[in-house]
Amino acid sequence: MRRPRFNPIIEALPPTIPFLAPEAIARQSGIPLRARLGANESGFGPSPKVKAAIAEAAAGVWTYGDPECFDLRRALGEKLDLGIDEIAIGEGIDAIQGRICQLFLSPGDRVVTSLGAYPTFNYHVAARGGELVTVPYRDDHEDLEALAAEARRARTRIVYLANPDNPMGTWWDAEAVETFVDAIPSDTLVVLDEAYGETAPKGTMPPTGFKRPNLLRLRTFSKAYGLAGLRDGYCLGDPEILKGFDRIRNHFGVNKIGQIAAFAALADTPYLEDVLARIARARTIIADFSRELGLEPIASATNFVAIDCGRDAAFAEKVLAGLAKRGVFVRKPAAPVLARTIRMSVGPDPDLAVARDALAQTLTELEHRS
Ligand SMILES: *Cc1c(COP(=O)(O)O)cnc(C)c1O
Repeated sequence: MRRPRFNPIIEALPPTIPFLAPEAIARQSGIPLRARLGANESGFGPSPKVKAAIAEAAAGVWTYGDPECFDLRRALGEKLDLGIDEIAIGEGIDAIQGRICQLFLSPGDRVVTSLGAYPTFNYHVAARGGELVTVPYRDDHEDLEALAAEARRARTRIVYLANPDNPMGTWWDAEAVETFVDAIPSDTLVVLDEAYGETAPKGTMPPTGFKRPNLLRLRTFSKAYGLAGLRDGYCLGDPEILKGFDRIRNHFGVNKIGQIAAFAALADTPYLEDVLARIARARTIIADFSRELGLEPIASATNFVAIDCGRDAAFAEKVLAGLAKRGVFVRKPAAPVLARTIRMSVGPDPDLAVARDALAQTLTELEHRS
C-alpha cells in the first residue's frame, strides 16, 4: 500500500519511542511499579501553594493561556534581574530545544555535544537533518576543553552543554562554564542546559548577568519545582534571538494552568529551599546505601545519583533488570564508559527504602549466578 511519504529527513530516521515511560514498562512486564526513580521527577511534589493555585485555576481553563506568558516572564525577570525580553517560555526545555533546532539548523549543519549527553537534544537535531559530532566524557564529566576545541575545528552551528550534567550528575563551576562559552566562536550558538541549576551548589551557574549574544540558557520547572507534568520551561538569552521563537512557536503551547502553577511556584521560595534540602539528603541516602552494597556513587549536583556498578555495561544492565523485576524504575546511560552506571533519581524515604532492598536483593542474586 502506498502512503504519503514523510520528508526525506524524517523518512531516513529509525522508528523511535524516545522515552519508554514507567507506565508502559509496567504494562508490558505486568510488574506493578513500586518506586518511580528513573525520570528525575521530584517525588517530593510541588508546593502546597502551587496545588491550591492549580485547583483555583481549574474553572478558568475554558480560556486560552496568555500566548506571551507575560506574568510569568515578569516574575522570572524580577527574580533573575533580567528584562522581560530576555526570557522566553516554552513547553519544557525539551520543546525549547526543538524550537532552537528549528530556528538554527539546516540539513547537514554541524552540532557538537558530548557522547551520552541528554538524548532529547540529539533527537531534535536528527529531525532537522543536523550532523551530530560527539566528544567523549572525561572522568565522568563533560569535557569542556574538548567540546570547545571540536566546536572550533570546523564551522559549527550549535554546541550543547548541560551543567550540571545528565546522566552523570557531575558539574563544573561557573568560572569554567564562562571560560567555555567565551572559547566558542561568536557565530556558533551555545545551548547551556541548566535543568538542574537549582539543585547544584552555589557558584555552579554563571550569574544571570553573564550574557553573550550567542548564548541561550535553558531552565525548567520540571525538576526542583516538581512540575514535570505541566511542561514549563524557560530560556534566557539575547532579546534578538528570543524574538525568533515568536516566528515559530506553538502559540498556546504553554498551557494556562502551567503558567499559573509556575508563577505560584516561583513565589514560594521557602518550599523550594525545603525541597532542595530534601533532595540533598536523599542524594546522601542513595550514596550511602550504594557504598554499603559495594557500589560507587558518583558525586552529584542534581536530583539523581549515577551509581558505578563496578563492572561493565552488561553487568549494569543486569542490575537495572533486577531492579525492574522488583518494581523499581531506574534508568541507565547507554554510551561507552558511562554505561557501567545506573542512574537513580532521588525521592521520599519509603521509595528509597524499596530501592535499597531491591538493589541488595539484585546484587545477591547476581553474585550467586556468577
Ligand atoms: C529533565 C531534563 C530536561 C527536560 O526538561 P523539561 O523542562 O521537562 O522538558 C532537559 N534537560 C536536561 C539535561 C534534563 O535532565
